[in-house]
Amino acid sequence: QQDRPLTKSAIVIGGGLVGSLCVSLLAQRGYKVTLFEKRGDIRKLESANGRSINLALSHRGRQALKLIGIEDEALSHSISMKGRLLHNINGHTKSVIYDPVSNQCIYSIGRNYLNRALLDVAEKDPNVRLCFHHKLTDVDFQTGFITLKSIKSGEILQTTADLIIGADGAFSSLRSFMQKTALFNFSQNFIDHGYLELCIPPERGGKLHPNHLHIWPRRELMMIALPNLDNSWTVTLFMPFKKFESIRNSENLLHFFNDIFPDALPLIGETELKNFYFSNKPSALVSIKCNRYDMNGKFLIIGDAAHAMVPFYGQGMNAGFEDCFLLNEILNETRDDVGRTTVLFTKKRQIEANAICDLAMYNYEEMRDLVTKPSFVIRKLLDTYLAKIFPRIWIPLYNSVSFSHMPYSKCIENKHWQNQILYATFSLLILVMATLVVLLRAI
Ligand code: FAD
Repeated sequence: QQDRPLTKSAIVIGGGLVGSLCVSLLAQRGYKVTLFEKRGDIRKLESANGRSINLALSHRGRQALKLIGIEDEALSHSISMKGRLLHNINGHTKSVIYDPVSNQCIYSIGRNYLNRALLDVAEKDPNVRLCFHHKLTDVDFQTGFITLKSIKSGEILQTTADLIIGADGAFSSLRSFMQKTALFNFSQNFIDHGYLELCIPPERGGKLHPNHLHIWPRRELMMIALPNLDNSWTVTLFMPFKKFESIRNSENLLHFFNDIFPDALPLIGETELKNFYFSNKPSALVSIKCNRYDMNGKFLIIGDAAHAMVPFYGQGMNAGFEDCFLLNEILNETRDDVGRTTVLFTKKRQIEANAICDLAMYNYEEMRDLVTKPSFVIRKLLDTYLAKIFPRIWIPLYNSVSFSHMPYSKCIENKHWQNQILYATFSLLILVMATLVVLLRAI
C-alpha cells in the first residue's frame, strides 16, 4: 500500500486518539493527509488535560494499532489486567478473572502516552501534515469546502479534500453541521451519574493487588482503579450528581469515604482526597447515537463524534480504533472509491455502534451492582465451564466484546441464545426434579 502513487487527499478533524490513528492509516494507503486539531500539540505540554488518565485497551483497539505497527510498543507501555478485583464494604477482596480458560487480559494504558505515540507515528509519515491550533468552524456540504480558524492568528482557511473525516469527539463540530441536514437523526443522553478522578500515589500503590481492575461496587455508585506504570493508580468515582452535591465539606467527605470505601481512604490519603474532591467538579457522561455517519460522498464521522458511549465497557476508544480498522477494510474493498466507502461505513457500522452504546449502559449496572450478586457468580462459573467444553461456541459476553472482533450486535445475540439455553436447561432440571419428588411420594 505504501508504494501507491499519491492520487487522493484526506483531511482529519481532531487529533485525539481516534483522529491521530486514522491519519496514519490513510497516509499508509498513500493519501496525502492533513490533520487539524484545535488544541496545541499535546507532546509539547507538561501534562495534557485528558478526560481519563488511563484507559483499558483490548482486542479491537490492539488490532488497529497493529495495522500501523505500534501494538507491541503500546503493550510494552501498559499494564495487563487479568480480572476484576472486587472490594466489599468490609475491605474484603475477591478476584474475578476475565478469561480463566485462555487467560486473555485487557491492558491499562496512559491516555497521554498513547496520544503522543500516535502523533509521533503520524508525523514520521511524509504524507502527513499536522496543523495544531486550527478549529473547524464551518462546513459547506454542497461545495465540499470546510472553514478552519487559526486559534493563534485568527486567520481563516478554506479547504477541501477527497475524504473529510470528523474525529472531533463527542461534541463534534462536523456532526453539528450534519445535524442540520434533512434526515440526519441523532440522540444524546446524559446519565444522572457523573465521575471524578482521584489518585492513589506510587508510594501507596504497591498495597493494591497488581494486574487487576479494582472495583468498589456499591449498588447506586462505584469506584474503580486502573494501574499506571509508575505504580500509581488512577481512581474514578462514579455516582449520582445529587450525591456529589450532597457532600459539601471535608467532614461530609471523610465520613462518606469511611463508611463506603473504608479500605480505599488510607490509600488515597485524607489530605489528597480533600484536595482532589474540592478542587475539581464531577464530569458528565453522555451516550450519543446517529442514524448515519456519512454525508455527500465525502464526509464521515468516526470515534466519539459518531458514537460516544458511557465508559463502563472500556470500549469507547477501542470502538473508535475499530472504526479506523473497518474504514481501512472498506477502502480495500472499494479500491479507494471514497463515495462508496463512506456509505458502506454507515451501513456496516451503525448497528454495531448502537449495540456497544447499549452494552456500555448495561455494564454500569453489572459493575456497580450485579457483580456482587450470587447469580453473577453462578453465571460466571457456568460460562467458564461451558467455554472450556465448547471453546468455539460458548463465548461469554465479556470475552466476545473485549477479546474478539465479533460484531457487537452478534455479541448481544450470543448472550441471548446462551441465556435461552441456560433458562431452558434449568427449567428442564426443575421439571425433572419435581417429577421425581412426585413419583417418590407416590411410591
Ligand atoms: P476525543 O478523544 O474527544 O478527541 C477529539 C479531538 O478533537 C480533541 O483533541 C479535540 O480537541 C478535537 N476537536 C474537537 N472539536 C474540534 C474542532 N472544531 N476543530 C478541530 N479539532 C477539534 N475508552 C476505552 O476504550 N477504554 C477505556 O477504559 C475508557 N475509559 C474511559 C473513561 C472515562 C471516564 C471516559 C470519559 C471515557 C473513557 N473511554 C474509554 C472513552 C474514550 O476516552 C473515548 O472513546 C476516546 O477518547 C474517543 O476518542 P476520539 O478521538 O473519538 O475523541
